[in-house]
Amino acid sequence: MEAFNLLLFAIAAVGYFTLMVTLLHFRQRLGLGMFLTALGVMHFMETYLAAVFYVALPFGIASPGSSVFFTGKLMMILMLYRQEDAATVRQPIYGLFVGNILTVAVAWLLQLHTPIELPRGDGANFDFLKEMGWLMVWGTTLLYLDSIGIILLYERLGRFLKHWIIVRFMICGFVILTFDQIGFFGALHYFLEIPASAFWDGWKAKMFAVCIYALLFAVYEVWIRREGIPASVRPISDVFSDLTFRERYNDLLDRTGRDVLTGVYDRARMEMEAPVMVREALRQGHSATVIILDADHFKEVNDRFGHLQGDEVLKAITLRLGSILRSADRVFRFGGEEFVAVCPATDHAEGMGLAERLRWTIANSVKTPDGEPVTISIGVATADTDGVSFTTVLSAADQRLYQAKKSGRNCVVGKPGLEKID
Ligand code: GH3
Ligand code: MG
Ligand code: MG
Repeated sequence: MEAFNLLLFAIAAVGYFTLMVTLLHFRQRLGLGMFLTALGVMHFMETYLAAVFYVALPFGIASPGSSVFFTGKLMMILMLYRQEDAATVRQPIYGLFVGNILTVAVAWLLQLHTPIELPRGDGANFDFLKEMGWLMVWGTTLLYLDSIGIILLYERLGRFLKHWIIVRFMICGFVILTFDQIGFFGALHYFLEIPASAFWDGWKAKMFAVCIYALLFAVYEVWIRREGIPASVRPISDVFSDLTFRERYNDLLDRTGRDVLTGVYDRARMEMEAPVMVREALRQGHSATVIILDADHFKEVNDRFGHLQGDEVLKAITLRLGSILRSADRVFRFGGEEFVAVCPATDHAEGMGLAERLRWTIANSVKTPDGEPVTISIGVATADTDGVSFTTVLSAADQRLYQAKKSGRNCVVGKPGLEKID
């Protein structure tokens, strides 16, 4: 008996998932409206079943309404988010919310009518309709919180489990449906006197449903979604690093404003970010140091070995910059073979130390194709001792770079009074 109920439970979950994912998968051909309407129309039945229909399963008594169908809906919302974006996910959530409030309002209004007797004799049950309406309003309020929660959690987990989307999917289901069970069951218990013992049983049924959906999600991601895309274009490992819309956006944002040759941020990015970095450091009561560097006699490198070899030398320089500067520091390509580093929370002496390390490392590791060392000259200036805006500090650093060139190159020049380091 319980085993048979479990079988029906699993069949319902597989059927629901298969149908909904088919609509989602073919949304470009069918229109997204079909998926969203199907999602919405199930809402009344989920709530109705959760209120009045319970079955015995091997792990306790539960309602397929909240375990199979509500759990399913939330997982569908997460899948919709993965394939579309937050703006699209908002549509069914707000739509359900407005629709449920309308249900309650309509029930209140219609009961004012004096209906005619029908031959069969059973009239509309407005008390039931209102009760369902309120329960649905509460259900969608929770769904709203659940959906925000599941999306945020999925994104957060992406930082640690980027390549483990199935595990992410499953953890999200476990956490958010536990939260939901507390919220929704509270209402059932309070208004409909569903016994408290059913809480754990219902929770277990939801967790079981999450396991089924995670398994089906894995099948879908690995076999079906991949099938539609030629294998040569997309290796299997890519399926596991499938990015959400927001992740793709952040990725794109991170890649824009980068210099193609060296991979460091470009001048436009510097104009945008450097003033903010300096302002922010000063606001927090720190200094910020700006380091500008220029390769020495770089024209000669180009003239002797050609531009392509010159490019390789530039890449080697930026590689060293990246390895010496700290994670809060940022390097920008200012012009041809000139780079600017902005180092927040760094005073002038620290900045001079950092610059000297850069100079030393490059002079001792970067070489021209014939083995000659490549050197750089550096100017250093600090906010607020040299000014409070990025532009003023940069121009002070630039004047010092000029002095460094005049003093014979391969050296660092800082604020006068604080001795020059050779
Ligand atoms: P100095 O020591 O005075 O700086 O001498 P320099 O020859 O380095 O003079 P300057 O800084 O004025 O010259 C910059 C040269 O860098 C000019 C240009 O040929 C070269 N350069 C600029 N951008 C690139 C680039 O992207 N790739 C290559 N290969 N060379 C570049
Ligand atoms: Mg130069
Ligand atoms: Mg130059």
